[in-house]
Order: sequence, then structure tokens, then C-alpha cells
Amino acid sequence: MTQKKDGIKSYEKVQELLGKLRQSEPELCSELESYIKSLVAERNEAQNKLTNETELHRLHNQHNIHLQHFELISETVVIANTEKSYPNALNRILERVGYHMTPKRVMILSDNSDSTACQIEYQWVAQDVQPILRNTANLYAECPLWQKMQINREINSGTQMCDLPDEIIQTFEKIGLKNSYIFPMIRNDGKLYGAILFEADEERQLSKLEIGYIQIISIVISGIIHINRILDDLIREKERAEESDQLKSSFLVNMSHDIRIPVNSILGYSDLLADEDLTQTEREEFIEMINKSGQDLVTLIDNIIDISKIETGQLNIKKEPCPLGALLDDIIATYKHDHRLLETDDLSLQLDFSPQYANLKFSTDIFRFRQICTNLIDNSLKFTVKGYVKFGVSKAWGNTIEFYVQDTGIGIPEKEQPIIFQRFIKVDRSYANEYNGTGLGLSICKSLVEMLGGEIHVVSVPNKGSIFYFTHPLDCEVPESVNNQREVKSLFDWKSRKIVIVNNIEQDRKFLTSVLSNTGVEIVWFRTGSEALHYFETGNVADIVIIEMNSSNLDAARRIHRASPVPIITQSADSNTDEDRVRARKSGCIEFLANPLPPSTLLLTIDRIFKKW
Ligand code: ADP
Repeated sequence: MTQKKDGIKSYEKVQELLGKLRQSEPELCSELESYIKSLVAERNEAQNKLTNETELHRLHNQHNIHLQHFELISETVVIANTEKSYPNALNRILERVGYHMTPKRVMILSDNSDSTACQIEYQWVAQDVQPILRNTANLYAECPLWQKMQINREINSGTQMCDLPDEIIQTFEKIGLKNSYIFPMIRNDGKLYGAILFEADEERQLSKLEIGYIQIISIVISGIIHINRILDDLIREKERAEESDQLKSSFLVNMSHDIRIPVNSILGYSDLLADEDLTQTEREEFIEMINKSGQDLVTLIDNIIDISKIETGQLNIKKEPCPLGALLDDIIATYKHDHRLLETDDLSLQLDFSPQYANLKFSTDIFRFRQICTNLIDNSLKFTVKGYVKFGVSKAWGNTIEFYVQDTGIGIPEKEQPIIFQRFIKVDRSYANEYNGTGLGLSICKSLVEMLGGEIHVVSVPNKGSIFYFTHPLDCEVPESVNNQREVKSLFDWKSRKIVIVNNIEQDRKFLTSVLSNTGVEIVWFRTGSEALHYFETGNVADIVIIEMNSSNLDAARRIHRASPVPIITQSADSNTDEDRVRARKSGCIEFLANPLPPSTLLLTIDRIFKKW
């Protein structure tokens, strides 16, 4: 009698929850309702037929379990529809699954939007929901077979872990799973959102119905992830729109300020010209000022047009074959009448073009290529009072050629170097107002270099000078005879210095070779820390060690530090955490450099150490 009463109570509870659901999920609700009805009818029928008390008891318990699971489904859908916070929704659902289905552990693995990464996002372990930080391992990278089977929809809901290939089992075992069931999260549009992994007690097998319930939950969760992604996209769009709005207003503010300067100067000097008492020299001086301001205005307008063309994708690049030597000669020739060069013997403009590059097949958009070069040369002339500005080819390799513009000018402070290619960045030079400019030139140069298929970077030392390097693709492979020729004299002269580099990563070795190549420094290469340790233990010396960050190298660094007073820099390819820095410092390393490493940072760090030690 009490059992029947309990049954009625659970049934009423389910009806109550369904009532809540009806408004938001009418379809799912009516499906659930008819299912419940069929179960109840089934039970009644069985009840009528069976006189056997034990069987009746068993059936009754089974029905109660079903009702409990229905409760779980309704609760899940209610949470999905009412909980606004994404993590709370997933937490609460996992908590309900934990309560009703008593698993050992449940994990939600979520895919990124193109299913190239799959990470543990949340897990429920024995009574407790544990949010997992998003930087857990990418299980698709660890096990490509798991990714392949997921993408090809080769895993059915409720597949047992033990039925999967060994490779996948091992991956799951690594994250602590044993007797688990897999539920790929796929929505009715066919999109994959990840998987729910349900670990049951070892002696427990999930029934078909239980598998069905978890499948429904996996659909609800994929719905939550789907909506969260849409929300994320909307927020990102909104932020982008706000940012571009802000950029537009700062663009307008900058522009109206920058236009006012030459216009005021033109108007002011034109007014002064009207004075009949002016001497001939004054008149000429004023006309020159008007001319110069007119030129500045034209440059500014050209820059604005370029920026807006780049922004709206209307800047078309038309490449044509052209002889490299003649093109560079032509660019230099435009400076023949440059008054800054004519007026002083202290400053010269030099072309550095070795004939070995003359036969390389080169196609470019001549107008835009010239614009990049003249912009960089103009800047160098603007910021250099004494010495030289050199322009030419620094090297060529593979099917790439690298150009450079070097000056012996005021240089760029280290902390400004990473940002000078951004729009409207003018380095604050409190001591000088004489450098006019809009802060647009380098950002246009960067866009143009990239549109031509290259990259640009700067190496600069305050009060010593700057070198701007930019690459450009070639139409052919560079012959061996030309490979790796280097013409640029570095800003650093380390001819009498020796650096020991411990690095096993081919890409890093190439980068370091390239950055240090013009400095004259002697490099001794090792692939492992223990080889370098042996080098120092056998009485060799060096001025700096640059060692790639990994546990065995750090151990070697510690021992090198004990064996020799040489300063050690750690270079980390992929991590940059405070713990890494502390570990490096504890191993005796005095500097920690993390990738991506700008060439200037590396050079300036080495320079600083050389000056100190
Ligand atoms: P601008 O029109 O102001 O020169 P750019 O975008 O060309 O704008 O340059 C941005 C800033 O970078 C300049 O204001 C200047 O401070 C710095 N800069 C660029 N080239 C050099 C150089 N060769 N030497 C020193 N500073 C430079």
C-alpha cells in the first residue's frame, strides 16, 4: 500500500516538473509524458496479471527508478532553460546526474568549433563537481584516432570504453577513467560538441534505459554549449564593433589635429606673405614653409587614403617582374636632391646591393614596394643627424629575399619597439618636437609588406641606430652560391665574444643563427645541457650561455653555474609562467626569455649582459 502511495507521489512530482517544463519545451514534454503514461500502463497491466509479490516488488522498484530518472531529465531541461550562467548550468546538471545515477565520475569533454581540439571542461567525482581549467591537454592531439572516430561519427551513444581501440582506452586511462560509457554530444543539426564520459562502478552495467537517459542529457548539454557559443560570438562581435567605433573616433581626433597643423601653417605664412615690407629672404623662407606644409598635407591625405583602402580591402596589389638592381638604384636616385643630404656632409645615404643578387627573379608591385622603401628611408633620414642611412639587400634564402634600411640615428626605446607598427604610434620624445609625423607610416608599411607576402621587424638601440628588415618572396629558389650571404653591419659588434647555445629545436637554431649572424659573435652549439656541462667542466670558457628550457637542461644549467661564472639565459619555447621563471632563477639563470622572442629583445638582453660582465 505504501509502495503504491510512493509511486503516486513520484508520479505527481514528475507531473509537477513536467508542468514547469511545458511552457519552454512543449515537444520534449509531451514526449516524456506519453512515455511515462506507457510505463504506468505497462505497470498497471503487470500489476493486474501478477499475483507474485516479489515480482510485483521488483517491478515497482524498477518503476521508481524510471520515475527518478524522469525527474532527472525534467530537472536537466529546467536547468538548461532557466540557468543563465553557462558554468552554473553545467555544474548543476552534473550535480543532478551524480545524485540520481550515482556514477563514479562524469566528465564533459567539449570540442572547439572546428573539432581540432577536445578538452575536459567539467567533471563530477564522488559527490563533488570540479570545474576543470580550460588548459587541460588536447585529447585530439594526444589521440588522433579518438578525433577521427568522433568526427566520422563512429562512436555510438553508450559505447563502452572496453569496446574501443587500445589507443583510445589508453588516452582515457591517462585521464583517470576506467569502466566508462561514451556519449558523443551531437545535436540534431549533426554538429559535434564533444562527449560525456560516464564512469560506473566496476560491477555495474548501465541498462538500455539508463543509456537512453544519459543520451537525452547529452543532447541537452550540447544545446547549452551551442547557445553559449552563439552568445560568445555575439559578445565578440559587439566588442569588435565597439573597438572599431573607438578606433574611428580616435582616428578622427588624430586626423583633425594632424590636418590642422599644416593647414594653420599654410594659412599663417600666406597671411605673412601679404606684408609688403618683407625682405626677399623672409619671403623665400615663408614660401618654403608653405611648400613644406603643403607636402605634409599631401602625405597625410595619401596616408589616410591608403589606410582606408587597406581597411576596406580595396588596395589591390599588382605584381610584375622587375630587375632588382635597377629598382633599388631608382629608389635611391629620388633622394639625389634631398635637401637634408645636400645640406650636410655629416649624413650620407648609401645603397648596399651586392651583384650576386642581381639575377634573382623578382616580381613586385613597384609602386607599393617603392612606397615601403621610401617610407623607411624617410624615417631614417628624419631621425638621423649624423652618420649614414644604408638601404639594400641583407640576405636571400629559399625563395625569400630580405631588404633592410639601417641608420645611425636616435634609435627607438626598447619598450616602444613592439608597438611602433601600430597605427598612430609616435614615440614620445620629450626632448624633441622637431619630428613631425602622423604615426601612420609604419603601420601602412607593415600592411603593404604583408600584402606583398613578407614580414617586417626592427632591431634598434637607443642612441646607436635602427635597422628595419623586411622580407619579400622571390620567383625562384636562391642558388647555393648566394645562400646566406649577409651584408648588414650589425648595431652590435661582438667579434671578441663567445656564446654557448644549447638548443635542440631546429626552428630555434635557425632563428638564433639569423639574429646573431651579423654581430661577429662566435657561437658554440650543443644539443643537450650535459654536452655543454662537459664543455665547461673540461676547462672551456664563454661569455654567455643561452639554454633551451627543459628539466634536464635546467639541471645542467645548475651544474654549469657551479662550475663556471658564465651568465646563463634560459629560452623557453612554449611556456612563460611565473613558476618557470622561478625554476630558471633557482637553477642559476639570470634571464628568462620566452617565445615569441623579438630579435631586438634577444640582442639587447645579450648586450646588457656583455656590458655588465
Ligand atoms: P611617423 O609618421 O610619425 O614617422 P611612423 O609610423 O613612420 O610614423 O613611425 C612611428 C614612430 O616610430 C615614429 O614616430 C618614430 O618615433 C619611430 N621611428 C620610426 N622609424 C624610426 C627610425 N628610423 N629611427 C627612430 N625612430 C623611428
